[in-house]
Amino acid sequence: MSAPESLTPSDRYDAIVVGTGIGGLTAAALLAYSGKKVLAVERHDRVGGYAHSFRRGAYTFDAAVHLIGGCDSGGLIDQLLTSLGVRDRCDFMPVNPCYRAEYPGLNLDAPTGTDEFTATYQAAFPHESRGIAAFLQDCHSIRKETRRLLANDRAATASGSLSGFSTLQRYRRSSVSDVLNGQVTDPKARTALTTLWPYVGLPPSQLSFLYWASMLMSYVDDGAYYCKGTFQVFANTLADVVRDAGGDVALRTSVRSIGTDADGVTGVVLEDGRTIRADVVVSNADAQQTISALIGTERFPATYCKGISRLKPSVSAIVAYIATDLPDSALVSAHETFHFEDWDHDNAYQATLCGEPNWYTLTVPTLIDPDLATDGSSLLVHTSLIPFDAAHNWHESKPQHEANIIADLEQRVAGFSSHIRHIDVGTPATMKRYTQNSDGALYGWELSPRQIGPGRPAVQSPIPGLFLAGHWTQPGGGIYGVVTSGIIAARAILGHDSESDLWQALQ
Ligand SMILES: Cc1cc2nc3c(=O)[nH]c(=O)nc-3n(C[C@H](O)[C@H](O)[C@H](O)COP(=O)(O)OP(=O)(O)OC[C@H]3O[C@@H](n4cnc5c(N)ncnc54)[C@H](O)[C@@H]3O)c2cc1C
Repeated sequence: MSAPESLTPSDRYDAIVVGTGIGGLTAAALLAYSGKKVLAVERHDRVGGYAHSFRRGAYTFDAAVHLIGGCDSGGLIDQLLTSLGVRDRCDFMPVNPCYRAEYPGLNLDAPTGTDEFTATYQAAFPHESRGIAAFLQDCHSIRKETRRLLANDRAATASGSLSGFSTLQRYRRSSVSDVLNGQVTDPKARTALTTLWPYVGLPPSQLSFLYWASMLMSYVDDGAYYCKGTFQVFANTLADVVRDAGGDVALRTSVRSIGTDADGVTGVVLEDGRTIRADVVVSNADAQQTISALIGTERFPATYCKGISRLKPSVSAIVAYIATDLPDSALVSAHETFHFEDWDHDNAYQATLCGEPNWYTLTVPTLIDPDLATDGSSLLVHTSLIPFDAAHNWHESKPQHEANIIADLEQRVAGFSSHIRHIDVGTPATMKRYTQNSDGALYGWELSPRQIGPGRPAVQSPIPGLFLAGHWTQPGGGIYGVVTSGIIAARAILGHDSESDLWQALQ
């Protein structure tokens, strides 16, 4: 179903999923494949949320996502798609090096593979060899313990009880810098090791070590991957699982409210007033909107609403989608390049907060997937983090930002502007418009030590039958995080204590 016309008020589903970001789609696909009658409702004209793609003539661009982890054999996303019987529909292509780091006086290609990654940093900073190994070993332990925690123990995941998880326990309140500064002395080595911080939206001094280490190692230990044909293919695959199992995916359809009574959830009301009934609703929408706009804070315990009102959303981004007649190799040598003007990530973040980021990432997806441009062009995505309130009117500010982005590219390749075949710029207002994330937040709540895992609202809400999935709930943002949330939601609804119980039941 691509339009909601055939939905009638008499319709009753086992579960309704509000929003088809990857977190919502994961829950929807797992529930549908398990035999539940599922309706997924999406206000946009396609599924995927931030993982959607769009076409401009000969060019297909990912709106947001550049690469993901968990696609190697036995990894979380591989396991999800295999269990749903659709692994063959997504071709995840390894991205190696995982990233290229550019600093004044240093260019470093960071390979995937734990040993290779460690050796590369040790070769760049031989005097810090031991500290680098110790730091990355801690990251590795965090990753392993996090996977074990999230895969097995539903109660501990929600409550934050960490007995049996010694590394998580030790660093639960630590920022990346808290840990790194105790192990590595050279400030440049510290900076280079934390090149990936923009992926999680906070500089190392403010960023949760647990979340950062899990994210870093999902790429380093397991490999970084790009989805051939854009991440829209991944999103479409999950939506097809829902349809193939007899469920419905209603596009261009907004949920106006989620109904509740004394016993819990009763269904949803669509924008046009139709009521669709279900005893289970999974909200993939922004948590604050779910609570205040879709349901009403009066339906929740006051402490729950108060806790959420104290949380701080993550920053947004400004993204330029460019096609150029220059060859990929004239632009960069890696799928993903992080370019920093200086060696201080706190300065870079301050400049970001002032609306004048002095750093950027460049993604060249045609290096790995040339079919994204059917006329042989190179596609280039220039991304910087930026807060929504950095402009009063993004429509008016956009041309200046576009000029700044082109100036960045002119510095790399003289005369770049004469090689542009196409350029679009997405601002924080664009991010918000297409996903309804408040202020175009990239990763839900900010990923600071107090706002990850149990610091976020739990997947199971205080209202019976209401679940959250996506980057506004546990464990946190990014595709790996929201897939995890969708799995936790499906497990809770289906009554599976562990991830392996779920996979077994799907066989
Ligand atoms: C520029 C950028 C780059 C990124 N790069 C990466 C990356 O390389 N790797 C990575 O892992 N992560 C990346 N992320 C983060 C990642 O994209 C997000 O954390 C993740 O996609 C969020 O998924 P979600 O399930 O929370 O849903 P979202 O993507 O937030 O989607 C929510 C969906 O719900 C729908 N919706 C909302 N309200 C309603 C309603 N009332 N009725 C109907 N539908 C509704 C919206 O239309 C939307 O489709 C990036 C994010 C951005 C913005």
